[in-house]
Amino acid sequence: MEVLERAQELERSNKDIIHLEVGEPDFPTPRHICEAASKALLSGETKYTHSLGLLQLREAVADYYNEKFGLDVTPDRVIITSGTSPALLLLFLGLLEPGDEVVMSNPYFACYPNFVEIMGGKPVYVYTSEADDFRLYPDAVARAITPRTKAVLINSPSNPTGRVMGPRDLKSISEVSGEVPIISDEIYQGLIYEGKDHSILEYTDNAFVLNGFSKLFAMTGWRLGYLIAPKECVRPLQKMQQNFFICANNFVQHGGVAALQGPKEHIKEMVAEYDRRRKFMVKGLRDIGFGIKSEPEGAYYVLANAGKFSGNSLELSREILEGAGVAVTPGIDFGDGAEGYLRFSYSNDIDSIREGLVRLEKYLHGTYID
Ligand code: PMP
Repeated sequence: MEVLERAQELERSNKDIIHLEVGEPDFPTPRHICEAASKALLSGETKYTHSLGLLQLREAVADYYNEKFGLDVTPDRVIITSGTSPALLLLFLGLLEPGDEVVMSNPYFACYPNFVEIMGGKPVYVYTSEADDFRLYPDAVARAITPRTKAVLINSPSNPTGRVMGPRDLKSISEVSGEVPIISDEIYQGLIYEGKDHSILEYTDNAFVLNGFSKLFAMTGWRLGYLIAPKECVRPLQKMQQNFFICANNFVQHGGVAALQGPKEHIKEMVAEYDRRRKFMVKGLRDIGFGIKSEPEGAYYVLANAGKFSGNSLELSREILEGAGVAVTPGIDFGDGAEGYLRFSYSNDIDSIREGLVRLEKYLHGTYID
């Protein structure tokens, strides 16, 4: 956020900045989704909905998961939230007492430890490394579980590594977790360029799935997400939703129904475009001297080793912003396991990515290489 805010400050003083730090799609929300929400708004869908969300949307979520992954999720396990982030908050509020532990990878999505720590919980890190393609090994997860572990948190496709967990690892992680529930953040599901998507629910029912409309449907500003929970956990989560959020926005939920039930061509086109940019960016970054052992397979991020240029990612990202006019995210935001790395986002058009790479090449080679 600080990089973004400084970038905006520079833009206000008329400096041209290329944004490769942003974590949101550059595509507009598809028109049919906007139309469904406007229609709902204009026809008076302006009251509270049921705290768990519109039944129609909960059914649409269940159908979507069932069709995609061959499951039998029932709508009474679905809780509609104002984004994946509030769903995480509800979940950790419900699961954690002070001193409880949550196992997660490092690098991790920057907000995860904050959600855990604000409840007095303790994130327990399982380090993943570039040498192993940032793979989260199930036996390492097993070693991190203690009697205080309340959840194992996974995120595939991953922010910031772009890694996608395969069926073997998902199955093994569900096995080693045993009685400990898995929280599976599937927000980047569908944004996958190699292989096939999977959900943790194919391997275990002892799991909470978090997903939302922000990424796949380019709806970040709408604030709409959902949680699929074991049936017995829905009621306590519902009580917290009633108290703290009441419900997700009514007409926004109608947009969600249109997203899940409407045409999907735009998604195919969007994924094809992300894939084109992914290949272009990976090649460009490698040519400049960044280390990318293997290509990321999902989401829209490249976590690149910047060791050739600096070991301090925050300082390097600041220098790149001021000196080259390119905004990138420092690896340290995603944990000490990503120090020395920079996260580049390809949720920007290919011309901007090209210009960003040209600027980086000029700046880094002028500054760091004889
Ligand atoms: N999880 C991950 C891994 C994310 O990258 C993000 C957004 N950057 C979120 C959750 C939050 O998404 P939402 O917009 O649904 O709150």
